[in-house]
Amino acid sequence: MEITAAVVREKLGAFTIEKVRLTDPRSDEALVRIVASGMCQTDLHGRDGYYNSPYPAVYGHEGAGVVEAVGTSVTKFAPGDHVVISFPWCGSCPNCRRDLPFHCMYARELKMRGTRPDGSTLMSKDGAPVYSAFFQQSSFATHVIANERYIVKVRKDAPLELLGPFACSGQTGAGAVLNSMRPKPGDSFAVFGVGAVGLSALMAAKIAGCEPIIAVDVHEARLALARALGATHMINHNGRADVVAEIRRITGQGVRFSVETSAQPAVFREAVEALIAA
Ligand SMILES: [Zn+2]
Ligand SMILES: [Zn+2]
Repeated sequence: MEITAAVVREKLGAFTIEKVRLTDPRSDEALVRIVASGMCQTDLHGRDGYYNSPYPAVYGHEGAGVVEAVGTSVTKFAPGDHVVISFPWCGSCPNCRRDLPFHCMYARELKMRGTRPDGSTLMSKDGAPVYSAFFQQSSFATHVIANERYIVKVRKDAPLELLGPFACSGQTGAGAVLNSMRPKPGDSFAVFGVGAVGLSALMAAKIAGCEPIIAVDVHEARLALARALGATHMINHNGRADVVAEIRRITGQGVRFSVETSAQPAVFREAVEALIAA
């Protein structure tokens, strides 16, 4: 079918809106009409050549939409279902078999190579391939094909146009807390940087019953949002060198868990030093 996609034709190139052809779904795939997609830095890294993905390419990995058609072996989804498309995993490597799909050993190829696992391409223009399958979805398009394994059904009364980032920042932050840290009620918690990933971690800590929940950022507006979402203490990092001391003052011995999302080496050190002695 003919679809519209945001195509990047060369490294560092612009996103250009073009008509391209999308192939038909295979037996274990679904055709999804994209309602909205998040955009994150990973898409821009792809555009800028960080992953050595081939061009022309279509990016986008936080797609949310409505299933329009499913392959013959798909049983969990039907046309009309509202879905978010998550990250790809192979399902057969040692980590996937141990129920650790987020550590899939073939994740990079599945996310960045621009093709299905077997090397086939999903989009084309005038007979030439357009490399899509970014995170096995390429959601910067009106329609995508995604394997049923990576699709998550969502409630129809949820605002589909807002759900795409659950596929990336949402589960990165919440998954770190709920799946890896697994805090107990009353465990102290600090999050450094309260953007999309940090706020998702914070909300998960709130759900898990953490107390206190300390949010650290350099933007007052973000700290106010962190408070609204469950932070018990806010620290504005601007101009102060005693953030770790302040966390120890609040908690007594330091925090049981800390999440670092700023990617600043000095802050990463603080996130470690703020921890309670194990
Ligand atoms: Zn992302
Ligand atoms: Zn795997």
